[in-house]
Order: sequence, then C-alpha cells, then structure tokens
Amino acid sequence: MMTDISGLLRANIAGLKPYSTARDEYKGSLGIFLDANENPYQNGYNRYPSPSQKEKVRARIAAIKGVKPENLFMGNGSDEAIDLCYRVFCEPRIDNAISIAPSYGMYGVCADINDVEFRTVPLGKDFSLPVEELLKSADEHSKLMFLCSPNNPSANAYDPQQLLQLVERFNGMVIVDEAYVDFSSKGSLKTYVNRYPNLIVLQTLSKAYAMAGLRVGLAIADEKVVSIFKQVKYPYNIGIDTLSIAGKILEKDVRDQIEEIIAQRGMLSRILPEFRCVEKVYPSDANFLLVKVTDARELYNRLIAAELIVRDRSTTPGCEGCLRITVGTPEENKKLLDIISDYDKR
Ligand SMILES: *Cc1c(COP(=O)(O)O)cnc(C)c1O
Repeated sequence: MMTDISGLLRANIAGLKPYSTARDEYKGSLGIFLDANENPYQNGYNRYPSPSQKEKVRARIAAIKGVKPENLFMGNGSDEAIDLCYRVFCEPRIDNAISIAPSYGMYGVCADINDVEFRTVPLGKDFSLPVEELLKSADEHSKLMFLCSPNNPSANAYDPQQLLQLVERFNGMVIVDEAYVDFSSKGSLKTYVNRYPNLIVLQTLSKAYAMAGLRVGLAIADEKVVSIFKQVKYPYNIGIDTLSIAGKILEKDVRDQIEEIIAQRGMLSRILPEFRCVEKVYPSDANFLLVKVTDARELYNRLIAAELIVRDRSTTPGCEGCLRITVGTPEENKKLLDIISDYDKR
C-alpha cells in the first residue's frame, strides 16, 4: 500500500512554480480593481471569476457528496481531470497507463495526446474485472490505472473491495471513474481517498446531475493530489456563468429523476429481451443499457430513420453486435419500444 505519492510526480511538476493570478494575490471583493487589466465598465462578465465564487460552489458540491472541500477538484468536465492525470504523473514516451477494455474512450485519447503508452487488459467473462491480469500488465513505468465503475459501455459496476485491492497492490495512481455511480447500488469509493493517497475518484455533474452542457467534472482525492491539480490546471478553468448556474441547479434535488430513470431501466431490461431481435440485455448499474441484437447496424439505421439515436458499439471489441441505449423519459422509452416492436415484425 502506497503512503506517499511524491515519487510518482513528473519531475517538472514536482518542481513547478505555479502561476499566481491577480485574484490569487488579493482575495477581497470590495475596492477599485486596477490589478487584472480588465475592462472597468460593468456588463456582468468584465471581471475574472473570483476564487470565492468557486469556493462557494465547491463547498456546496462537497456537502452534497459528503467529502471535505479540500478533497474536491473541479474541472472543465471530467475530461480535464483525466488529462491532468497524464500531465501530472506521466513522462511522455517513458511512462505508461493501464485500463480495461472495453471502457471509456477518453483514457486512451488523452494518453495519445500526451504521448503516453496506453495498455489495455480485456475484461473477463460477463465483463468481470481482470484483477491479476491488470497487475501483471504493470511495470516500473506504469503510473496510472483507469477503472470505470459502473463501466461505460458494459454498464456493470465493480465490487468496491475488488477495486480497493487494485488500489492497494498497484504502485501508481488508481483512477476510479464513477460518472454513473448515482445509478448504481454498489456505492462509491470517495470516502477512501483519505486512506489511500494513490486513489482518485472521478465524478461529474454531466450525467445524474443533468448538467452535461455546463462542463463541470469532479475529482475527489487526497489533499495533496487536489492541490497539485489546482496548480497545473488553467488559472480560470471554470467561468462565472458555469459556477453560478451550477450552484442554482444544485439547489434542486435530482433524486426523483434518478429513481425514475432506474425504474425505466428496469422496465426496458424486462421488455427488450422479449423481442426476437434482442439476444441479450446486459445487467446495468448505469443510466444506459448494453443490448446485444441480431443485426446492430440494421436496427441502428431503423432507429435513425425514425429519428431516434442510439450508440452503435458493435465494432468495439467485447461489444460485438451491441447497441448502447440511454434510458430516456417514459415517453422516449415507449417510442424506442414501439420502433423496435415494429422492426421485430419484419
Ligand atoms: C460521460 C462520462 C464522463 C463525463 O465526462 P464529462 O467530461 O464530465 O462530461 C466521464 N467518464 C465516463 C466513463 C463517462 O461515460
């Protein structure tokens, strides 16, 4: 088990002198501000975001998530946090990252952009977590391990104890991407970040919290990791509007919506297998279903013709013949079933 992550940092990051913004130097909110070269004429946006605006939203999200504000990093989507993991921990062309396959595409894309080798280990039978194979694929240059749970696109969540085993045994950072955790009964690892300094839990406001268009992603981690992420991110990575709208939308409880989505997921999982064209509906801990059908391309095109768009995952290794279908409103789901029912009669 790792107790100090200092040795995992890239040398340039360990020695980084971070940029200090005007708003970092003077934190008050009253006075005449001639410190940041802003246009002085007010239009609601002429000033740079103040740290206090962000701290208010951070405190609110931390309270909702039941974590300390010091353990919460807010990024421009989870994608920013994924990219930061590479920039903070991986030496290009020397270090490598490990993940499961199939999983979320951004881990590999960010590895490519940062010129970091990306190693994937296929999931086991029924999309089970290949714990020993993941550890076997690591060497002394393995800095990151991305584990998505519930996993996109396989929809299953992993046993927290199994994930923690990897956190304990892997000599690098383990990033558990919990973008869909609110739809799962398996629970989050977020409370373990104080015990494991090499654990980063990713969550997002994009899915259950209904703010995909705003771009707010969260990393919950040891204070040290959060503080390094803050030094490496762009100085003002989240805009004024995003902060104030996120604060407002967070006042509204989404629990009813989540329950409805979970109920609709159950309904779809029961009805879809009754169609001839459906071979299997995989168990889901997320707000989508991975559905194996007799002819994925044909059904996909049929749905498109009816202006209903799903994701064709049939060319992804491990997802042959599969469509990924997001759970919509009851009306949208009924339309989906009507189109498939029609297609099934062919
Ligand atoms: C949708 C999704 C995200 C969310 O990314 P944002 O940049 O926060 O919108 C993260 N991880 C996975 C696995 C996802 O499917």
